[in-house]
Amino acid sequence: MDWKKTRLQTRALHAGEPRPRIGGSLSIPIFQSVVFEHLTEDTAYDDILYPRLNNLPNHVALGRKLAALEGGEAGLVTASGMAAITTTLLETLGAGGHLLVQDQLYGGTHAFLVESLSSFGLSFDFVDAGDPRSWADKLRPTTRAFYVESMTNPLMQVAEHQAVASFAREHGLVSIIDNTFATPVNFRPLEIGFDLVVHSATKYLNGHSDLVAGAIVGSGERIHRIRHHLNHLGGTLDPHACFLLNRGLKTLVLRVQRHNENGLTLARALAERPEVACVHYPGLEDHPHHARAEKLFDGFGGMLSFEPAGGVAAARRIIGRLRIPTHGPSLGGVETLVTRPATTSHAGLGREERERLGIGDALIRVSVGVEAIDDLMQDFLGALADGSETP
Ligand SMILES: *Cc1c(COP(=O)(O)O)cnc(C)c1O
Repeated sequence: MDWKKTRLQTRALHAGEPRPRIGGSLSIPIFQSVVFEHLTEDTAYDDILYPRLNNLPNHVALGRKLAALEGGEAGLVTASGMAAITTTLLETLGAGGHLLVQDQLYGGTHAFLVESLSSFGLSFDFVDAGDPRSWADKLRPTTRAFYVESMTNPLMQVAEHQAVASFAREHGLVSIIDNTFATPVNFRPLEIGFDLVVHSATKYLNGHSDLVAGAIVGSGERIHRIRHHLNHLGGTLDPHACFLLNRGLKTLVLRVQRHNENGLTLARALAERPEVACVHYPGLEDHPHHARAEKLFDGFGGMLSFEPAGGVAAARRIIGRLRIPTHGPSLGGVETLVTRPATTSHAGLGREERERLGIGDALIRVSVGVEAIDDLMQDFLGALADGSETP
């Protein structure tokens, strides 16, 4: 069966799953072995099963499922989102390559570029991914790739993705997008011309905040080359984590639909409250990139941030009074999480740089979970009301 002809929810369940089932087992057994017997005397090197070579049935099934979800030819899983990102960049840039990259990035990606890229003899320039006219000036003869994120953290900005894909094509660059925040349920960048999609599967793809993994999807040829690199660098995903990720993926569509509903409802409710100075959510009409998001995305996701009117003291009070969310970093799981980027993901930037980016010290980021929305609303609106009183 060609699963690409089916809807996403059907693909999430069935694409990549071995048929016939291995040993009749509906769920793929965990191939917890590093040695696989040679079935013939002259087993070719390419046929040797070994976990680091990313070729266990658990790896193969996930690669196919992820490819079907993103609408790509082939896919790979990796030991972490950072393994997916670094392996993809190193392979794509090649010797002496130069990268154009969005100036607002996940912290780990930013740190890799700033602290490690030059030690490989590679270089990069930050660009404003919302201003296509500024890009051509940054091109060099060695520029090989253009890297962006589907939505930025924590202000949920949406780049000119269609223009990024077209610009890359026009100038012979490989376009790469980190689609962690949107997920293939809300956005399939390969459909608008991106070459490679990377993910932190730690977040929505797994969805249960209980493993670290990454994913890469693209053409068969690109994924073949990246897999070769990954085999050398060693960022392979453990078979048990593969099993959990595959299980998580089966409910991806259901979960993200609920994240979308809860995110939009909570964002609208927060925006109406006098205790809230502003809400950043691309589904709100007053978000600067709302029109772009509406055109590109099938849903606006479960990530939002808001600035309490009462500043840092109010933010601390609100977080202290919330009963349902856990106060902690990371995102994309079924449980709601809250964090203040100024003290976690963006602490390293310093206040001035944060101010320049529009990330206030009081800003609260919410990874909206799949709880019953009435309970979430009651909790958040109650915490706000209390937070407006002088203690
Ligand atoms: C978490 C995250 C990463 C890094 O993923 P790990 O699985 O922690 O290595 C990369 N990009 C984005 C957008 C993320 O949120």
